[in-house]
Amino acid sequence: MKNRLKPDIYLNSVYELDTASLKAYGINAIIIDIDNTLVSWDTREPDDKVNELVRRLGCEGFKICILSNNSRKRVEEFNKCLNLPAIHKAIKPSKTAFRRAMKLMGSAPSDTAVIGDQLFTDVLGGNRMGLFTILVSPISDKEFIWTRIVRKLERRILKKYHNNE
Ligand SMILES: [Mg+2]
Repeated sequence: MKNRLKPDIYLNSVYELDTASLKAYGINAIIIDIDNTLVSWDTREPDDKVNELVRRLGCEGFKICILSNNSRKRVEEFNKCLNLPAIHKAIKPSKTAFRRAMKLMGSAPSDTAVIGDQLFTDVLGGNRMGLFTILVSPISDKEFIWTRIVRKLERRILKKYHNNE
């Protein structure tokens, strides 16, 4: 049996998505998470990169549905201009919301992928439904790592200053 916590593929970010390969797998519908997948949890609106990604996926013929465990307010505010089919308080990994998302897109498990940053919600839920599952590294962790790198550099520079005194 397939390990339900194992994604089909793993990406550093949603922008690494290879849409040609997805099409080759027969995928034409995408269920996508918001927090830490498209933007950090404290970013209220899509940035230019998100807008461009959604536009491009649409042009390439993919149907997209937002599936978030976050509140109605969060999802509606984020989706205001994107205007995608969207489900809030999804209670992922529950199957119900995944079924609703596919219904909204008119898709079936065999032609639907899910993209998210969490194993226990996005990947587990997608695998339970037999979807193609794509795990991305969480955006805020990256920020955190970046912050750590910056701190390291800062320390190095400060040390140099100190030694030159
Ligand atoms: Mg998330």
